[in-house]
Amino acid sequence: MRSLRAGVSVKPVASEVRVTFLGGLGEIGRNCLAIEHSGRMIILDCGIMFPDPEMPGIDLVLPDFHFLVENKNKIDGIIISHGHEDHMGGLAYLLREISAPIYSSRLTLQMARGRIEEAGLTTKTEFVAVADGERRMIGAFDVEFIPVTHSVPNGFATAFHTPQGVILHSGDFKLDMTPVDNRRTDLARIGALADDGGIRLLLSDSTNAESPGYTASERSVGATLRTIFAEAKGHRIVVACFASHIHRVQQLADAAVVEGRRIALLGRSMLRNVAIARELGLLTIPEAALIEIDKIDDLLPGQVLVLSTGSQGEPMAALSLLAAGENRHFAIREGDVVVLSSHAIPGNEWAVAKVMDGLARRGAEVIHSGVAHVHESGHAKQGELSTMLAVSRPKSFVPVHGEYRHLLRHSRLAIEMGVDPDNVLLCEDGDSVVLTDAGIDYGDGVPAGYLFVDGIVGNMSDGVLRDRKVLAEEGVIVVVVTIDGHTGEILTGPEIITRGWVHAAEAEELLDDARLAVVRAIESAHDGKAVDLETIRRATRRALGKLVSERTKRRPMIVPVLMEA
Ligand SMILES: [Zn+2]
Ligand SMILES: [Zn+2]
Repeated sequence: MRSLRAGVSVKPVASEVRVTFLGGLGEIGRNCLAIEHSGRMIILDCGIMFPDPEMPGIDLVLPDFHFLVENKNKIDGIIISHGHEDHMGGLAYLLREISAPIYSSRLTLQMARGRIEEAGLTTKTEFVAVADGERRMIGAFDVEFIPVTHSVPNGFATAFHTPQGVILHSGDFKLDMTPVDNRRTDLARIGALADDGGIRLLLSDSTNAESPGYTASERSVGATLRTIFAEAKGHRIVVACFASHIHRVQQLADAAVVEGRRIALLGRSMLRNVAIARELGLLTIPEAALIEIDKIDDLLPGQVLVLSTGSQGEPMAALSLLAAGENRHFAIREGDVVVLSSHAIPGNEWAVAKVMDGLARRGAEVIHSGVAHVHESGHAKQGELSTMLAVSRPKSFVPVHGEYRHLLRHSRLAIEMGVDPDNVLLCEDGDSVVLTDAGIDYGDGVPAGYLFVDGIVGNMSDGVLRDRKVLAEEGVIVVVVTIDGHTGEILTGPEIITRGWVHAAEAEELLDDARLAVVRAIESAHDGKAVDLETIRRATRRALGKLVSERTKRRPMIVPVLMEA
């Protein structure tokens, strides 16, 4: 395998094809890449990432759009592989900057549409539905949409028929041979592509590249859920899962109907996605089986199933509100059975654990993926990744969609499966690869930093985040002093105001000493002569920082406010 540091970038030639990775390589989330040839560009996916604990106050993280904005006149379209937020959640932000049609399955387009409409950006795009197996020209690009199984229906792998051969992007996939909708990953078509002309480059999902074996069929979860339903007779059941997991919802609805339960939907995205999927005929729930959440008290406990959002412990989602006893529609009570039919996304474990504890405290029996097989991944494990490599037999390989160690493991797997190590390129966000008649190599890099969304979209600097962390962890000390502009002498103050540092009552002596330290620092800084405020500010910050550090072992933010009179 090669890595960028050892590579040499190649000069552009006429028929070259370049793939630039803008997000999702080195992290789970904000998937986005661009493919270019003949002076044109197409975008595949535009997702968001949820902020980690190192990003206080950030709502979400987007790919860096600079490269796309710079090339906005070349963009022929945006393809969305499937309806997950890490693949389509950034569209409503990208469309502020560029204008392009969006191509995907009808379901994915319906799911993506809401946010784009809310942002008032429908005039910037056009929604073009594509069918399973369809091959069509999108501007300069010859694109084929190949069905794959995943944890949302109607996902695609995408084959780009380029002047340098076929680039196959796996999308998020697993090889579920018994999917709930019987729509399997079209391995036969991928095999056919490999046979006729071959696959030049495979870009494949690395999420589960560290896990040996095979991901179980979604149907296996249905079996567990039916058992739980059978054992919970006479009790209310509440199940939280991803609102986009239509097949999970289908299996839950089927289990409810068999047991004579009515289904109430809780949470905005659950109501929305169920409505979309039923309208498109992808979800079958008899009208008579549904009931308004506000009417469930008319039924006996054993006649109720509540399908809820919030399986990730999101603070404002339905399940968290239930755990806190703050949901305005109904309250969890002794004897309820609550199933988290999900797995915490890395980073959400703590929030999910809190929610589960809250539910248990209210008397619910809590069942989660740690105690029963109530969830299965939507991503391929090693066995399936090897199968994909064996069927597609790519000439070259770049692992995508994963943290660094997932990408690394997947690279090794590709080499084990026979891809020439020189043609396995490990890339991260901002890297590009170029296909030419001479082979594959690294191309020029592009900016790929985090674009933070904080209330309104804006490229917030890392400095702001650093400040927030200091404020959160250490607190702040503000020193207010008025100084004679000529002599540098202190006229009023220093007044010291603190927040989040030490408790005021215990700090009296410390604050006296702090004031004294500031007076001394200012006096020695001006030494009877006039000095600029910046010098005094620095001296103040240094003296106070030293005292605070020695006495409290803390490093709060120190903000000197100096006024001249
Ligand atoms: Zn996905
Ligand atoms: Zn994904």
